[in-house]
Amino acid sequence: MSSGFHFHSLHFVVIIAGTNAIPVSIGKNPMLGQHYQGDILNPLKFKSNVLSQQWPHKTMVYKIGFGFSTEEQRLIFDAMNEIQSKTCIKFRQASYFWDRDYVIYTKVATGCSAHVGKTGGQQFINLEPGCFNGGHTITMHETIHALGIGHEHNRPDRDNFVIIYYDRIMPEHRYAFEKDDSNTFGVPYDYSSIMHYRKDAFAIRPWETTIAPKTMGTVMGESTHLSNGDTEKLKRMYRC
Ligand SMILES: [Zn+2]
Repeated sequence: MSSGFHFHSLHFVVIIAGTNAIPVSIGKNPMLGQHYQGDILNPLKFKSNVLSQQWPHKTMVYKIGFGFSTEEQRLIFDAMNEIQSKTCIKFRQASYFWDRDYVIYTKVATGCSAHVGKTGGQQFINLEPGCFNGGHTITMHETIHALGIGHEHNRPDRDNFVIIYYDRIMPEHRYAFEKDDSNTFGVPYDYSSIMHYRKDAFAIRPWETTIAPKTMGTVMGESTHLSNGDTEKLKRMYRC
C-alpha cells in the first residue's frame, strides 16, 4: 500500500474519533454498535434500499485498511465472494489514482458498523477484531449495508411479522427499532435475513426478548449466510 493510503486512514481516525467512535462492548452480536439503528453510521435519518445510493455498474469499490490479519482479510474476501456468487454484484479494489468514491474496511474505530449505500467520497466499514468472531457473517452484514440495504426488522411492514417490546430495550437504543419507509422490492419478510436482529437485541436484561416473531418457533437474526430474501433483495435492487 502506498503512503497516500495511510493518509486516508489517519484522516479517518480524526473524523471518526471525534464524532462516531463510541466504545461498544462486544457481546454475542457486536454488530449492534452505538450508531443509528445500532451499526449504521449515516448521521441523520437515512434512506436505505434507495436506488440512488446504489453503486454504479453493480460494482462496489473498496480498499482494505491496514492492520487486518491474513485471516481477517480472508474473511472480508469470503463475504464479498458469497455476495458475488449469489448475485450480479461485483467488488473492485479502488485505484489510488482515480477512484474517489469507495468503501474502506478499517479496524481503527471500535464496533462493527457501516454507512448505508454509496455516500460519495470515502466511506467506512468498521470492523474491530471482535467483528470476526463467528466468521464472515458480520463482515457480510456490514457490506450489505454499504451496498444500500437496511435492517429487515425496520421495514415498513414489520409489525405484521414481529412484536417489539420497547419497555425491555435499553432506552438509548429504542430508536434502532423504529420502522423506516424502505423499499422492500416486493421481497417477503425474511426472518432468516442476515440483516435481522436477534430476539435479545439491546435487552436491558439479557435473557429477555426484545423482538419476537409472530410465528411461534421462528429463529431470527442467527443466520451466518445470505438468506434467500437477502439474495433476492440485492438482485432486485441491482437489477440482476
Ligand atoms: Zn446493521
